[in-house]
Amino acid sequence: MPMRTTSALTMTVAGTAAQTLATFEVTDPATGRTAGLAPDATREQLDDAVASARAAQPGWAALSLPQRRTYLEAMADAIDDSAGELAELVTAEQGKPLPLALAEVAGLSLWLRRTAPLDLPETVNQDDAERLSVTRRLPLGVVAAITPWNYPLGQLSFKLGPALLAGNTVVIKPSGFTPLSSLRLGEILRDVVPAGVVSVITGRGGLGAWVSTHPGFDKISFTGSTATGRDVMSGAGATLTRVTLELGGNDPAIVLPDAGPDEVSEKLFWAAFSNAGQICLASKRIYVHADIYEQVAERLVRLADQVSVGDGRTEGVQIGPVSNRRQYDTVLDLLRDSLEQGHDILTGGLPGPELIAQGGLFIRPTIIGNPPESARIVQEEQFGPVLPLLRYTDVDEVIALANAGEYGLGASVWSADTDAALAVARRITSGTVWVNEVMHLSPLVPFGGLGQSGIGVESGSAGLLEFTERQTITLKR
Ligand code: NAD
Repeated sequence: MPMRTTSALTMTVAGTAAQTLATFEVTDPATGRTAGLAPDATREQLDDAVASARAAQPGWAALSLPQRRTYLEAMADAIDDSAGELAELVTAEQGKPLPLALAEVAGLSLWLRRTAPLDLPETVNQDDAERLSVTRRLPLGVVAAITPWNYPLGQLSFKLGPALLAGNTVVIKPSGFTPLSSLRLGEILRDVVPAGVVSVITGRGGLGAWVSTHPGFDKISFTGSTATGRDVMSGAGATLTRVTLELGGNDPAIVLPDAGPDEVSEKLFWAAFSNAGQICLASKRIYVHADIYEQVAERLVRLADQVSVGDGRTEGVQIGPVSNRRQYDTVLDLLRDSLEQGHDILTGGLPGPELIAQGGLFIRPTIIGNPPESARIVQEEQFGPVLPLLRYTDVDEVIALANAGEYGLGASVWSADTDAALAVARRITSGTVWVNEVMHLSPLVPFGGLGQSGIGVESGSAGLLEFTERQTITLKR
């Protein structure tokens, strides 16, 4: 199939292409060249998208649950049919290696398929001679899905299927860094769902705030940074628009002394460096017991030195560039701070002339050996390929360190003794704690953050219900 020119990608409003005069350039982080042009929506176009979504919603909600399930499955089929094309767009705009982008697209269709059979249960509160009382679930109306740039389609998985299954219509607002794959998705879905059920609008800078303060939305499902999440919540306050916020994290991994260095090191490496570390649930600080610290450090360094970093379209590349200049600068700022503080850089470091000459935003996996707990690289979310590897001796102390800070997204515990690991896991304050694995997500399992990592959950029945409101109907007998 011939490749589309990405400059022709259009927003989807009312089931058709919305014409835009203004466009903005999307940069390919592996080359610094243009990955494509995206439409820069006007406020009127946002109004149009909301109006068409509002118009479509009652008809969509009036379909039976089995009918909406069939639509979700048809969407998954259409996405599978275009998987290669969508993945190429993800790699071009986001940078991840093509196999990872293909897995991301497969995840979107998998989530649609696995969400489809979920139920919207009715609860019988009372059923006796006096009264029948039933609580049922109603859709909210129109949902805004605001997504970040690290998984432009993956982050949509947790929103699109559940919102639609519950009877809402959806307006997708991708990150201005990665709008292309969402635009193409909107085009693909035009032939699959009724007009207005799924819309896609793109823009720079101000569009996110327009969306989160627009009175026409009934729910904002937001994934992004904690700082923006706070803006979204205060913007939504004026209209009491419901929010789900999936925000930042600084996930700890705790490696207990009996964990086998050979068993855990490769898993820990990818926990930290997959997608160039740009995963909300990546291990962002790894605490290794002193008994095995040197062995684990040595293995992690070896893996870091062997791994292939480069353009995600090149076969064999395992880690792509940092996704955009803003994030690249954030990561390098943290790395420079570590250098200034005299931290022990075990491998990696600032990009050398050879890496810079490649033209992309490449940073080799960098491991910082046992920096002080107060270091910025330990305290702040790096969201990039720079990892602090910390040594500990006392389990109680390391649990306290894991729980310190404002975030509570995910955590992992590693040990040969599963009972000991589970006992540690129960003492950690985060939305998810994995034992002997990390970042495993399932369409049937809710995930979300505690504290400043968010409000609400996505996925599973609980995630589905976040796209509904309760209504109780009572019959006096
Ligand atoms: P970001 O907050 O900069 O942007 C996220 C989205 O919000 C983008 O679409 C952006 O255009 C939009 N936006 C910007 N200003 C807005 C406003 N005032 N109102 C509404 N929307 C606005 O985040 P990012 O840099 O794209 O993503 C990285 C961050 O996201 C990291 O902190 C990461 O931990 C977090 N994240 C969290 C999860 C999770 O599930 N908890 C998943 C992925 C990423």
